[in-house]
Amino acid sequence: MPRLAVLGYPVAHSRSPAMHNAALSQIGLGDEWSYEAIQVAPDAFEARARAMPGEGFAGANVTVPHKSAALSLADELSETAREIGAANTLVFAGDEIRAENTDAEGLLRALPASAGGKRALVLGAGGAARAVVWALLREGADVGVWNRTELRSQHLCEELGGEPVVDPEQGDYELIVNSTAVGLRGEDPFAELPLGPAFSSEQTVVDMVYGGERTALLRAAEAAGAGIVDGIEILVQQGVLSFEIWTGREAPVETMRAAARA
Ligand code: NAP
Repeated sequence: MPRLAVLGYPVAHSRSPAMHNAALSQIGLGDEWSYEAIQVAPDAFEARARAMPGEGFAGANVTVPHKSAALSLADELSETAREIGAANTLVFAGDEIRAENTDAEGLLRALPASAGGKRALVLGAGGAARAVVWALLREGADVGVWNRTELRSQHLCEELGGEPVVDPEQGDYELIVNSTAVGLRGEDPFAELPLGPAFSSEQTVVDMVYGGERTALLRAAEAAGAGIVDGIEILVQQGVLSFEIWTGREAPVETMRAAARA
């Protein structure tokens, strides 16, 4: 009876158990496999993760604040996880722990069109931004990175590539990705981020942040006719990839999307 889980702190709000359990049922694995949420504090993370293979876990998702700790404890890293410097997916094989990052590919799959050749602006320089910058550069986008704390965007670009941006309002971006936490607690994105509400139909705006309702950033972008991608779609796409790694089966995307949005 293989078990799966998401490890986070806090984790009660996570939509991953609903999404993965719905997917397991849909493909006929619901009586054998299960997916749960496990809250674990940072100082207990490594011991908890190492005990999981012995408790019947086949794999786990890892969310805030454990994504870089997950990388450090793994015996084997995918190239993507190593280059980004964070893992969101663990695979347990015997006592070995393999770390993967499906956040980057999940973002690319959520986009309505290839980012190749596009002028992209990434807001933020935390864990989410690292995966976004890595993914967009791999896709061939021209990536500018703005962060409230400028030094962090400079460091990110030195490590991963892209150009630090100080005043994004000067740029003409076709793709804008909010990978800051702005909006999570209802903050006004146009007060906290260097963006005006005047988007155009030529643009696509992505907000990694998600909650109960559409964020103010996406509402403004949609009202201006821009394409939008919300954080739940990115959550779904990274979940699809993790699910397929663990089960070896094609994930039922529509089922996962419906469960994540319910
Ligand atoms: P993180 O590592 O803590 O980074 C937070 C980022 O937000 C930093 O760049 C920080 O800037 C910036 N920030 C926070 N408050 C700000 C403010 N008031 N004004 C301007 N910038 C501000 O967090 P993370 O892991 O990268 O996650 C960022 C967001 O993405 C979270 O809301 C998370 O829930 C979301 N996320 C969504 C998915 C998904 O699947 N949809 C996946 C991963 C993350 P400083 O460096 O200046 O502090």
